Amino acid sequence: MSNKAAEIVQDARKAFNSGKSKTYEFRLNQLKGLQKFIEVNEKKIADILEIENTKPIFESYLGEIIYMKNDIQNAIDNLKRWMEPVKPSKNLMFIMDQIELIPEPYGVVLIIGAWNYPFALTLSPLVGAIAAGNCAVIKPSEITPMSAKFLEDELPKFIDSSCYFIYNGGVPETTALLENRFDYIFYTGNSAVGRIIYLAAAKHLTPVTLELGGKSPVYLDDSADVEIAANRILWGKCVNAGQSCLEPDYLLCTEYMRDKFVRAAKNTIQKWYNNEPKENKDYCKIINANHFARLSKLLAGQKIVMGGYTDSTKRIIEPTILVDVKPDDAIMKEEIFGPILPIITVESAEEAIEFINKREKPLAVYVFSKSKVEQDKFIKGTSSGGICINDVMVHYSCDALPFGGVGNSGIGRYHGEYSFRTFSHEKATLIRTLNKFGEYIQTIRYPPYSEKKLNMINVITKKLPPIPGAEFFKPLFFIFLGVILTLLSFGCRK
Ligand code: NAD
Repeated sequence: MSNKAAEIVQDARKAFNSGKSKTYEFRLNQLKGLQKFIEVNEKKIADILEIENTKPIFESYLGEIIYMKNDIQNAIDNLKRWMEPVKPSKNLMFIMDQIELIPEPYGVVLIIGAWNYPFALTLSPLVGAIAAGNCAVIKPSEITPMSAKFLEDELPKFIDSSCYFIYNGGVPETTALLENRFDYIFYTGNSAVGRIIYLAAAKHLTPVTLELGGKSPVYLDDSADVEIAANRILWGKCVNAGQSCLEPDYLLCTEYMRDKFVRAAKNTIQKWYNNEPKENKDYCKIINANHFARLSKLLAGQKIVMGGYTDSTKRIIEPTILVDVKPDDAIMKEEIFGPILPIITVESAEEAIEFINKREKPLAVYVFSKSKVEQDKFIKGTSSGGICINDVMVHYSCDALPFGGVGNSGIGRYHGEYSFRTFSHEKATLIRTLNKFGEYIQTIRYPPYSEKKLNMINVITKKLPPIPGAEFFKPLFFIFLGVILTLLSFGCRK
């Protein structure tokens, strides 16, 4: 088994060393191949997600297919620009030099996906890996074997199978893969396994992105429109039956808002599912018996004010709201990852912030408030991967924003151009000429050392405060200083 893993990594490395994955044309063609894979197979993908994850077709398009199509198109449209070197501004010391950050591929990257969005969480990182010129080994989740098998069978028909490999299996296979040296590891999944991946990466000093989860809190301010807030928060709990890394995990609000929220939430469920989510084709099931048992256990002994119906044979848990939850109850100690919303009452935004800050840094913080002052308290007073005001989860699909966690919710980020940057090493590049004129300037750093030379170095390396309009006059300014510098350097040579 481990031989197969090693062979695949070797093959991927051989392909990378051939240089074929690095050219603009190759990257573009592969992205177009990936695009074709989605276009040709979108109906099949939605069918697989419906069977395996019990996702409504609508949610498969919303959460995976449409998202991936846009992600790939964005990469195709911007690839040329992303590949260009970034030219940072330089100080006087480097006036004669060309300085650039050249994005280069890491090499062979490992992408480990999770079951809750089995296509998007494997293929969206792959978009970044391909765009950045890497070769890749992709390990889909074994919890969704149909999706994993489909990727293994069909993807090689659309993208270069000597550069991109699907390697299927569970923990032993992933462990075998991790014994090999990769140049980058991109993992999506829970924080406990995230630590295992990080340790394996450390063995080879391999850089990582860890896309993890956690408990993303919602604060509902007294000023919020409670009907709108209930719609949006419940949507986050009902999409994929709450099995999303960004799901709103628990709600913090005053007692006054709690009662209003529960009333509004019941209306929402009535409107959406005619009060019968368990029978509704637009409501998905829990992925497997283990997760069903875990979630059912979290309900034990809790005060249920909405929902609460569970069916182990169908693996259904209704959207459920709990009140009078204690901060040290089991449900407040682990990521819920299901359609259960505990409410904890607080007296103020400050108390809510203190509650959030006492816990691990979440993937997202959500705030519902009409008050800019209250919103700002959370933006400035809490730390999380992202923050979304007056909605939940939607910041994920905005590719102008990076997506990723902080602390226990993850390391690194991706989406849009950030995916390209994640899978690229930005090589610091300085190109200096060998001409005599340039050498005159450099003599100030050579022995014999003198105070005069040191003073000169102090002047030319000194960081100046930004000058308004400086960009406009920059070329003139540099020519002028270049002349002064040259004259002074003549002086220093004596
Ligand atoms: P999972 O069970 O599918 O596991 C994820 C991957 O880890 C799989 O490919 C699996 O083979 C591998 N794995 C499992 N155990 C391993 C081990 N011991 N050694 C090496 N590899 C191992 O998914 P999951 O972890 O149940 O996913 C749910 C979690 O992922 C939640 O915490 C959720 O918040 C998080 N998540 C995060 C994001 C994000 O983008 N931040 C997205 C989706 C899910």
